[in-house]
Amino acid sequence: MHMRRAFYIGRFQPFHLGHQAVLEMIAKEVDEVVIGIGSAQRSHELTDPFTAGERVMMIRHALGNSGIPHYAMPIEDIKQNTVWVAYVTARTPPFEIVYSNNPLVIQLFKEANVKVKQPPMYLRSQYSGTEIRSRMLKGEDWKHLVSPEVADVIEEVNGADRLRNLAMSDDP
Ligand code: NAD
Repeated sequence: MHMRRAFYIGRFQPFHLGHQAVLEMIAKEVDEVVIGIGSAQRSHELTDPFTAGERVMMIRHALGNSGIPHYAMPIEDIKQNTVWVAYVTARTPPFEIVYSNNPLVIQLFKEANVKVKQPPMYLRSQYSGTEIRSRMLKGEDWKHLVSPEVADVIEEVNGADRLRNLAMSDDP
């Protein structure tokens, strides 16, 4: 049987309801989704607070009951964009289409003759990792922007506290 598989990559810092809406849409068009957890080597930074393992947990719990067949796999960055598509395809299940709105991701896959679709943005001003991290830093509400399951994972690892600690300076 021919399985139609799509690739969707993000940093998922954190995995939010915008990502989830896109995945629900993708799942209507293909049989399985390969989810790349990008910049997997990064964590404990203001723009990338969560580890690859924590992001695997977010996706596992968020999609647990969704019925979206998927493989979520960490993918570390490499320095050479020219070989990135080959690097990705060498470590992922085979896929025939990429969904992305990231200009670099779109450019690299198109140059490699892989079909790319740009999913519609879902309330981008709200459902944005930057917005969620900024709310965490300021101690504002952020849980309504992620699924309850993702909020639980972030609480389990004290994510908001981690982000506030990362923003501190040792210079009084
Ligand atoms: P991201 O988590 O910001 O976004 C993931 C995807 O979700 C993007 O396509 C984005 O447009 C989409 N999205 C975000 N909010 C949305 C919303 N509200 N509604 C609908 N869609 C929404 O991740 P990113 O930064 O785009 O991830 C790309 C990854 O690929 C990075 O980790 C990057 O380092 C990696 N990459 C690496 C190389 C290399 O190693 N040389 C090259 C290219 C890309």
